[in-house]
Amino acid sequence: MPTTVKAYAATARDQPLTPTTIERRDVGPQDVRIDIKFAGICHSDIHTARGEWGEVAYPLVVGHEIAGTVAEIGSNVTKYAIGDRVGVGCMVNSCGECAQCLKGLQQYCLVGNVGTYAALDRDGTTTQGGYSQQVVVTENFVVRIPEGIALDAAAPLLCAGITTYSPLRHWNAGPGKKVAVVGMGGLGHMAVKLAHAMGAEVTVLSQSLKKQEDGIRLGADHYYATSDPDTFTALAGTFDLIINTVSASIDLDAHLSLLDVDGALVNVGAPPEPLPVQIFSLIGSRRTFAGSAIGSIGETQEMLDFCAEHGLGAEIEVISADKVNDAWERVLASDVRYRFVIDTASLA
Ligand code: NAP
Ligand code: ZN
Repeated sequence: MPTTVKAYAATARDQPLTPTTIERRDVGPQDVRIDIKFAGICHSDIHTARGEWGEVAYPLVVGHEIAGTVAEIGSNVTKYAIGDRVGVGCMVNSCGECAQCLKGLQQYCLVGNVGTYAALDRDGTTTQGGYSQQVVVTENFVVRIPEGIALDAAAPLLCAGITTYSPLRHWNAGPGKKVAVVGMGGLGHMAVKLAHAMGAEVTVLSQSLKKQEDGIRLGADHYYATSDPDTFTALAGTFDLIINTVSASIDLDAHLSLLDVDGALVNVGAPPEPLPVQIFSLIGSRRTFAGSAIGSIGETQEMLDFCAEHGLGAEIEVISADKVNDAWERVLASDVRYRFVIDTASLA
């Protein structure tokens, strides 16, 4: 018998989220049932629920920054025990057999990874996400949250943390490297903390200087406003790596001009509209324009352990579930400081 749990769902692209109930499957031999304690609010939740990335089936429960404790385990589960502190991020399955899965890069599964919400699950149902009391996930897509990180501050690491950690590692952020982070929101503030902890020299490029004090406190060495045209003159040719976390379209050519020779601008922001690039912004200085999606399950665990070692968590504002619509409006207004996290006890 499936278990009925409380949740908050989108019912249409232009309607506020409302309370509902959803069914969670029985725990199979490989499954873990998780009592969700906290669920982070990612801008992707809004893009998806509002149909900006394509059509979705309603009602839809979003949320892919899940932190909680293990409530039940299947008969073959070996990695987790009841009571363990665990997390689930943006995916809950992949084919396990393709070249990318065999390399441990489940996020780039050639068949397509199964997203934590709005995806077709292997049993034919549509996955439903973390704005809910419980979730049932195969143990291979569950990660362990180290004791040193509070569950509420850990939740955003499951998406915002890994999505910025992965490209910072892949493009070798570290001592002697100049890294810029575009956008000081959920992803951006984690990029600042992580790049600083890796030893890079960190610059924030924000629309304004409103969050400058916070940026410096979180580990940035420099902070500039992109609304000031002098910023682009002052920083021309400076960076080895730029991580663009902006959820909307930006002037890519202007940002590419800030890269040194051989520098890379990695887009993790996922605006629905195309981002045009002048090819001359790249070829004159052998620059790279790249993208990156979340991170693998193994790398997510590595990131959580790195955060515990360096005393890192997200800067959060904990809210009750009935405040989720107001929180979404503040995210859309770039007024998030720096991640909203739903306390799911408020669903009871
Ligand atoms: P967020 O908290 O809303 O942060 C985005 C930041 O971008 C804002 O705080 C703002 O920073 C800046 N910004 C917003 N609108 C802007 C505009 N029109 N022009 C210039 N800057 C603007 O969002 P998030 O949760 O960090 O997510 C950011 C993006 O990453 C979203 O598109 C999301 O879907 C995507 N994402 C991708 C992946 C992946 O795997 N690649 C994973 C998760 C999320 P300032 O106020 O500092 O300017
Ligand atoms: Zn996300």
